[in-house]
Amino acid sequence: MDKPVPKKSTKRRSQQPPPHWRKEIESVLISQERIAQRVRSLARQIEKEFAGRDLVIVALLNGTVVFLADLLRRLSMPLRLDFIGVSSYGGGTESAELVFTKELRLDVSGRDVLLVDDILDTGQTLFRVRAKLRRLRPRQIKICVLLDKPSRRVEQIVADYVGFTIPNHFVVGYGLDYAERYRNLPFVGVLHPEMYKNPDFIPLLSAKKRRLLQGVEDELDSDGGQEKPE
Ligand code: 5GP
Ligand code: MG
Repeated sequence: MDKPVPKKSTKRRSQQPPPHWRKEIESVLISQERIAQRVRSLARQIEKEFAGRDLVIVALLNGTVVFLADLLRRLSMPLRLDFIGVSSYGGGTESAELVFTKELRLDVSGRDVLLVDDILDTGQTLFRVRAKLRRLRPRQIKICVLLDKPSRRVEQIVADYVGFTIPNHFVVGYGLDYAERYRNLPFVGVLHPEMYKNPDFIPLLSAKKRRLLQGVEDELDSDGGQEKPE
């Protein structure tokens, strides 16, 4: 039997972001050092589990790029890499559709797939992507995410490898964006709620991101912005 992968959870919002980010980023949720440490241990677990297997890493664009680049360089084993592009459109309704902007090119049939994403939130994205991959008949599909927000789950999806379990904040950095910004922050930070209203950014958000931000804002309103115990 596989041993369950231990999950690390984030404690409190404590650290201040560097001064030049303070207007936009409320706090550092996960520091660069904690991320590096966790990526190393995830890589060790993945190496163990996929030793001797024909591994294909399938990463979702664009949010995974930073996490993926760090994880890959920690994996000392033969592997292949491919990408799937997904985008959610759909005029602000709950039935927002997932559009594939880049299709898989490698043949995964009979092979072991490690599906990598930045964050597991409602689970709708990974649910759809996994269903699509299953039709290609891989030997197995395992899921690895940097972040997990279990409180917002809608679909039944459990990640096999989780970097950090986080509360319902809207986070940016280390690959994650807000209107395509902040992917280059070396840490995972909580976006300042003032930024949700910034008219320069709102038109650039997908319907899905707008709903997500609305959910975070409603929660902040209802508990006065206090951090809840996990
Ligand atoms: P799901 O389909 O699981 O709801 O959504 C996963 C996608 O939603 C992620 O890949 C990411 O693009 C986006 N997402 C969910 N939560 C956050 C967040 O806190 N920050 C950012 N930047 N994106 C998020
Ligand atoms: Mg994404």
